[in-house]
This record gives sequence, structure tokens and C-alpha cells, in this order.
Amino acid sequence: MAIVRVALPVAVDRLFDYWLPAGLDVRSGSVLRARLGRRRVLGVAVDLVQDSEIAPERLTPIDEVATELLPLPADLCALSRFVSEYYQQPIGQCFAQMLPPLMKRRRILAEPEWRDAPAPAPGPPLNADQRAALAGVLAESTRFAPSLLQGVTGSGKTEVYFSAAERVIAEGRQVLLLVPEINLTPQLQLRIATALQGARVAILHSALSTSERLEHWLAAARGDAQLVVGTRLAVFAPLPRLGLIVVDEEHDASFKQQDGVRYHARDVAIYRARLRAVPVVLGSATPALETYAAARRGRYRWLKLPHRANAQASMPAVRLVPNRSPDTREGLGSTLRDAIAERIARGEQTLLFINRRGFAPSLLCAACGWKAQCPRCAARLVLHRSAGALRCHHCAHAERVPESCPDCGNQDLVPQGFGTQRLERALSELHPAARVLRIDRDSTQHKGAFATMRTAIAAGEVDILVGTQMLAKGHDFPRLTLVGVLGADNALYSADFRATERLFGLLEQVAGRAGRAALPGEVMVQTDFPDHPVYAALVDHDYDRFAQSLLSERELLGLPPYAHLALLSAEGPSRAAVDAFLGHAVEEGRSLVAARALRCEVYPPVAATIARRAGLERGQVLVQSTARAALHDFLPPWRAELERSSPRRVRWSLDVDPLGFA
Ligand SMILES: [Zn+2]
Ligand SMILES: [Zn+2]
Repeated sequence: MAIVRVALPVAVDRLFDYWLPAGLDVRSGSVLRARLGRRRVLGVAVDLVQDSEIAPERLTPIDEVATELLPLPADLCALSRFVSEYYQQPIGQCFAQMLPPLMKRRRILAEPEWRDAPAPAPGPPLNADQRAALAGVLAESTRFAPSLLQGVTGSGKTEVYFSAAERVIAEGRQVLLLVPEINLTPQLQLRIATALQGARVAILHSALSTSERLEHWLAAARGDAQLVVGTRLAVFAPLPRLGLIVVDEEHDASFKQQDGVRYHARDVAIYRARLRAVPVVLGSATPALETYAAARRGRYRWLKLPHRANAQASMPAVRLVPNRSPDTREGLGSTLRDAIAERIARGEQTLLFINRRGFAPSLLCAACGWKAQCPRCAARLVLHRSAGALRCHHCAHAERVPESCPDCGNQDLVPQGFGTQRLERALSELHPAARVLRIDRDSTQHKGAFATMRTAIAAGEVDILVGTQMLAKGHDFPRLTLVGVLGADNALYSADFRATERLFGLLEQVAGRAGRAALPGEVMVQTDFPDHPVYAALVDHDYDRFAQSLLSERELLGLPPYAHLALLSAEGPSRAAVDAFLGHAVEEGRSLVAARALRCEVYPPVAATIARRAGLERGQVLVQSTARAALHDFLPPWRAELERSSPRRVRWSLDVDPLGFA
């Protein structure tokens, strides 16, 4: 009897055997429909075998082959196994990442509309730095050749990617371009259409409709799409003629999937490039320290664009201004206020950046010290004044703003701190004639809202923009000459070991919005700590100095890239249940380390930063090793023990190479 071993989208890390009815054409990679208990699920055939541990009469047959999809190619099957083993994720769920969602009802699919863009004016030719970078990227076009393209904001990294893509496409091969979630803008699509005229571009991200995703997936799988652009999930697109992978803004945290199958798309992209023997380019103004260290050690070719591509545009001048002074009004110091007034008078635009949405991050009783807390999370409620609501940013909880303190009845409830809404109001009061636009997740909920706003900004219909990190990247506004940054110091208090690395990246990105065209840009960062190394490096736009000092610090503390981490997170209805599970995990882990003489350290359990979320208590255990191999010897047996011993009420997950300790 022919037996097929199938990967199914379930949380257990094993394959399932089915018998193969005669007449079904199945090979490794075929997508199948099969019964699992009472459910009918989509699976991938991994192996065809003759024997099963399960008695033949107990095997169920495969229902059918899902002919609306193409079989997964061998490299994606290998990639699934890699993701499963490396990240310790269930094999079937890893295979499921490779498949597009299927439509409920089958229908004939249209070909994606290949947009034949009208021929726009070609951009300026590549400058000497860009030409050198291009030559570096394509120096070895038929083998695994990773490079880091480190270029300051506005240096024209994108033009290098497109030129490289153009050549690879001309050779009849496909290009995969991964971008952070926030960067997949119409502006980028227009730039692609301009740079790669007539190229067949498929787009893959989770916000597409089911049928669109399927169409574009098939176009990639058939080899029709010449360029596949997408967010992290696009790293799993089938690409029979793959010739180049580009990861833009490779340091961006959105490449890390934080739930379900936990993987890092940049690192998977590097592995995929190795599997397929193609070059891979990681681009950033502020590379992740892991990437930076790899380039410094010579593992990656190190390509640099040290100047802005537009010869007229210089790097914006960065000034550190006091955060708290007697003349501060609604969080805005006089230096920043004067600078804004100047821009308004000159008809130029200002961007005020604060990475907090809502009106104020907390509401406080001035009499007794009561603070509005989420009843389901260990977190404060955020005041959303225009909606008259207190909202939790960690769960769905929302309530009306109380009229008086629930503890003492005092009516003097004070908003504490600043969010985008509060700044928006303050600016409208300071400059009644100015047109103020707020851009954050709340103001852009409706489809198309962000696009409309961008058009208004580009048309000069806005004087002051107030926004969160939605505005930090990927947008060029030629009239924008001043960027003000508020609340940056919050990152310096963070327990997250990557907080300052991320802060620098974010600030450099935000600063990069100023003075992209002929008008010079200025950046003002309000801070209480002007001597902090992160700000000193920002003033000089000197990422290298900053990265090197951070690397020495990480080496001293035994943190990545000098050590490898895995984080076990657990949540459950009671603290006792979570603690008991994690305590057992530590005990088992330590005896495993001792028994096998592994160079791993298993740390004691700690509460998560948000110790309770949506009614569940949360905790975690960190495992650290200076040897990658030791960590990967440790994880499989440890995980098997956790699977065996975990109580039903505790949910847990393993995160290999976690971005932080959440
Ligand atoms: Zn009170
Ligand atoms: Zn909550």
C-alpha cells in the first residue's frame, strides 16, 4: 500500500500517515486535502513511504489533491524543515506558512494585472558610490553571496536594489524584495513601476484579499512574476527562477513574527539564499547589530553609501534641546516652538514625532494618587480624550472616562504625559491658523485614509504633522524641513536590551525625513540626557561609533550577537500555575544541561514585562549559550519534555533568537 506522510497545520511537531488511493498523482510537495478527526485540513505531502507504524486498517485515505495550488518546490520543503528545526516550531505549521490562504469557494482566478505604467521620467543615473555597491551586490551572481548595504538615509539604497533587480530580471531570473510592513506604500510601488518599467510585479502581504494573494502566489510559483515584493511572509513564496533576494531595512522589527510560527524573515531569507545559491543583500542605514557584526567579521560583503544621493541635500543638522524648562508648554519647549513658528512663516512643513498614540498615557487622581488601570492587564489605561474613553493598548478593554476618582470621589483627574492627540490639540492652540494633521493608528483606521493624508501632505495642504512611527519611514515630503522628537527618553528607561539600538534606528529614520530635497533639514530632539551616547552619535550621524560601543557592551554582558538566546514564555489563569510550569521547566533544563555537559545557562523564571495581559498571568525563562550548536542540542529534548509535562491550562511558546524579553 502506498502511504503518504503529510505535514498538517497542527501544534504537534510530527507528520501524519495517510494511504494514497490509486489514481491520485502525489509527490513530495503536493498540496492535499485530508481528514484530521472531524476537520478537513490542507496539508503538504512530505514523503512517500511503504510502511507505517500505524496498522493499515486504521489509516485514512487522502481526500484529494488541491489542484488549485502548485506543488511546493523542493527548496521550500527544505526551508520548512529548517524553520521547524532552527526555531523549534511544529513542522506542519511551518509548511502551512508556505501556502496562501485558500478561497472558500473555488472559482476561476484572474491573472494579476501587470501594470504597464506610463513611462515616467527616468531617475538620475547611479553615482559612483551606488555603482560600486551595485558591482558588489552582483559580484557573484550564481552563488550564495551575502552583503550588507549600509547607506545613510537618502543615499539611494533603493536605486541600487532596482538596478540589481533589473539585471537579474534581464537574465530571466526572479527577484524577491522583502520590506517592513510599514514600507509597502503606494509610493514604493510607484517607484518600482518607474525603475522597472514593464516588469511583472507580484505583491504579497497579509492585508491582500484571499483571491489577490492566491493570484500573486501562483504568479510567483509559475515563474511569471519577475519581482515579488512583500512583507515577511513573502520569504516563503515559491520562486522557481530565484536569482536575488533583497531585504530592505533589514533591522526592522516587523521581520520577526511574534506569534504563531516564530521566525525572523531576514534570517530565513539568508538561509534561503544559501539553499538556492543566490546573492542576498541586507540594506539599512542602521543595521541590526547581528548584521553589523557579521559584516565586520567579513562574513558579509560590506558595501557603503556614506552620502545622500541628491548632491544638494546634506544630512540634517541634529540639535538636542532641553525637555523640561520653565517655558515648556504642553511638552513643547521654547526652542522647538520658535522653530515651528519659523517654518509656518516660511511655508515649510514640520513633523512632530512622538511614539505614543492617544491623548495621555495615564490618568491620575491629584488627591489620592489613584491611576486608571486595566482590569485585565498589569498596565495603565491610555486616555483617548476625543472618544471620551480609557483604552488598554495591550488588550481590547475600553471604558468611559470616569467623572470623578473611583477611590476618593475627587473630580480633579489629571492626564499625565503626552500622546499624539494631546500634541495635536496643543499645536492647534499655539498656532490657530496652522493646518495640523495627526497620523497614527487611530486616525488611519479607514482604508485609504493614510493614502489621502499623504497626498494632502505632498500637496502642501498641511503645516504640522504629528505622528507615531507610521511616519518614520519610506516617505519623502520635499517641503518638510523640521523634525521635532518628543518622548525619546522613554527608551532609555526600558529593560529591553535592544532599546537603545532601536531608538537610534528610529531616530535616524525620523531625522531622515527632514531636508530630503533642496531645502536643508533640521532635527530637534527634546531630552533630559543630552550626554547619552545614543544622542551624541545621532548628532554626528555616526552609526559606526555607536554600533561599536554597543557591541563591546553586549560582549561584556553576554548578549547577542555574542551569545545565543531562547526564550520560553508561558501564560495561564493563575500565577501559581505559570510559576509551577516554569519552575519545572528550569529544573528539567538544568538537569539536561548537566547530564549532557552542554554549554547552556538556564536562568530562573521571571514575570514578563506586562506581568498580566488580558486576564492571563505571564512569565518566562531565558536560556543562553555562547555556542549556537549547544543551544540547538539543548532545545529539542527540552521542548519534548515541556510538551509532555505542560498542564492544559498553561499556554507556552519557544522563541529562538527573541528580539527582546517581552
Ligand atoms: Zn482619588
Ligand atoms: Zn488590558
